[in-house]
Amino acid sequence: MIFEQIPVGQMQNFSYLIGDENSKEGAVVDPAWENSKILDIAKKHDLNIKFILITHSHYDHIDGVKSLVDATDATVYVHKDDMVEIKNRGIDKIKTIDENDEINIGKIKIKVLHTPGHSPGSVCYLFNNKIITGDMLFVEAIGRVDLPGGDIEKMFNSLQKLKKLDDNIEVYPGHDYGSIKHSTIAHEKENNPYMRASKEEFFRIR
Ligand SMILES: [Zn+2]
Repeated sequence: MIFEQIPVGQMQNFSYLIGDENSKEGAVVDPAWENSKILDIAKKHDLNIKFILITHSHYDHIDGVKSLVDATDATVYVHKDDMVEIKNRGIDKIKTIDENDEINIGKIKIKVLHTPGHSPGSVCYLFNNKIITGDMLFVEAIGRVDLPGGDIEKMFNSLQKLKKLDDNIEVYPGHDYGSIKHSTIAHEKENNPYMRASKEEFFRIR
C-alpha cells in the first residue's frame, strides 16, 4: 500500500494519499489546498486518483474538492449528513456513505465509521491498521463541538466507538495540532484527556 500524510495550507491541515501499487488506483482524503503538491506525489507513485474521501465538510477540508474533481474525474465519497456542502459546490459525482460501508481501492478495503460530534456527518476511515480521524480525534485532543451541527453527546459516543479499536491501530488526524504527527489508539487512550474521561468528566472538561 502507498500511504502519505501531506501537510497542506495555512491551518496545519493534513491531506492523505492512499494507493494500491498493483491497480494504480488512488484516493485523496480531504483535499482543501495545494492540490498540485498532492498531485505531484500521486504522480511520483504513478497513481490515478479515482476516489476523493471526505472526513467532514468544513471548508478547510473541502476547498480543493471541486478543482481536484475537475483535474481527475474522481468520485467524491461523503457521509449523507455532510453531503449538501459538497453538492453546493457544483459537484455531481458523489457517493454517500454511512456506518460500516466499505470502499475498495484496488485490494485495499477501507471501512467507514460514522463518528458524529464535530459535524453531523463526520466519518473515520479504517484500513490496514490505520485510521484517518479528520477533526473528530486529534493527537491528545478532539475537535470542536460548538460549531453548527456539533454535538457534545455524540462526540462522547463517537470516542467510545474508537476506544474499542485495537490498541496498535495508528491514528492519523485532520490537523497537525499535537506534539507528534500521528499516534495510536493506545497512545490516545493513555494520553488524551477526552478519551480517558467518564461521561460526567467529559461534559465538565469540554
Ligand atoms: Zn472541521
